[in-house]
This record gives sequence, structure tokens and C-alpha cells, in this order.
Amino acid sequence: MKKYLLFLGAPGAGKGTQAELLSKTNSYLHLSTGELLRKEIEMNTILGRQVKDIINKGELVSDELVLKIVRQNLDKDNKGWILDGYPRNLSQADSLNKVLMEISQPLEVVFYLDIPEEVLVKRLILRGRKDDTEETIRTRVNIYKKTTEPLIQYFKDLSLLKYIDANRDLKTISSDIMQKMA
Ligand code: ADP
Repeated sequence: MKKYLLFLGAPGAGKGTQAELLSKTNSYLHLSTGELLRKEIEMNTILGRQVKDIINKGELVSDELVLKIVRQNLDKDNKGWILDGYPRNLSQADSLNKVLMEISQPLEVVFYLDIPEEVLVKRLILRGRKDDTEETIRTRVNIYKKTTEPLIQYFKDLSLLKYIDANRDLKTISSDIMQKMA
């Protein structure tokens, strides 16, 4: 059974939902950079105040800041982990690789949750989080296409990528993932 996993996909593809489910079932750490950043905002920490406007505009927080958060959280004792929302660009993928080498926990599989753009925009509008306004969604989807999508090929080249059709119901998707991580 794979222990070190990563979820890749557009905003609204269902990474968070699937990662949460899978981490609970296997007692793995669920590391969502978006969640962790939102917690910082909620707690009104220095970091939270630094990132609030950026997140509400739908732009990316600096590589340095997210790396710090990832490092802190991967350090915790764990049976395995699921990264969700990180890396989001090639430079973050590079940094992640270095961190994982340091802690001797190499990435074992990347699940790419694939979904048509019109479906994800509908999902996000329905979700209605603070950064789910139409304008912000447009920004996030554009950044995703330009900056994050190249990671699909990057992980494919490393033979880590597994394709998941994310335009199906929750349970079908999770059993598909479970099967592919065995
Ligand atoms: P979604 O998958 O719907 O975009 P997330 O919870 O993953 O939602 O991310 C919400 C926001 O947090 C992003 O729009 C971005 O501003 C910030 N964020 C999350 N992860 C990263 C990251 N790896 N690098 C930079 N910014 C990030």
C-alpha cells in the first residue's frame, strides 16, 4: 500500500474531499496548503495577515511561505501523508523533492483528478467559499492552467502519475483511488 501520495487537479476537482476521506481511512496526514493557509487567516497570525488578500484575489501565495508551512507539517510523526494543493508550480515541485529527500519519504504516487472546466466552475460557484466568486474562480482557473498544469507532464515523466476521472460520484472516485493505491 502506498504511503506518500499527492493529489493534483484544478480547483474544484475534488482533491480536498478525496484526500480527507483517504487520510481518515488510512490514518495518514492530510496536508492541504489551502486549508493550512485559511487556518492562519482565521487565527489572524502574522502569516495569515500576509496571505489574506492574495488568497481572496485567487492568486498564489509565495513559494517561500508555502514551503515553510509544508516543511513544518511534514515533520510531524506520521504513517503516511497526502499532499493536496501543493506543489502548484515547477519551482514548488523542486523544493518538495528536496524536502522529501531530506526526510527520506519519497513521493510514491500522484493522482491526477481530471475534470472538464465547465463542471468545475459550476462546483466552485455552488461551494461558495469566500474565494469562490466568479472573478476569483476565473483567476484561479487561469493560474492553474498556466502554472500548475505543466506538473501533469512533470510527474508523468517520473512515472508517478495515475489518471482519475473526477467527473463521477464521490464513492466511485474514492474506490477507484483505493484500488490504484494498493
Ligand atoms: P482550490 O483547490 O479550490 O484552489 P485550495 O484550498 O487548494 O483551493 O487553495 C486556496 C488558495 O490558497 C489558492 O487560491 C492560493 O491562493 C492559496 N494556495 C494554496 N496552496 C498554494 C500553493 N501551493 N502555492 C501558493 N498558493 C497556494
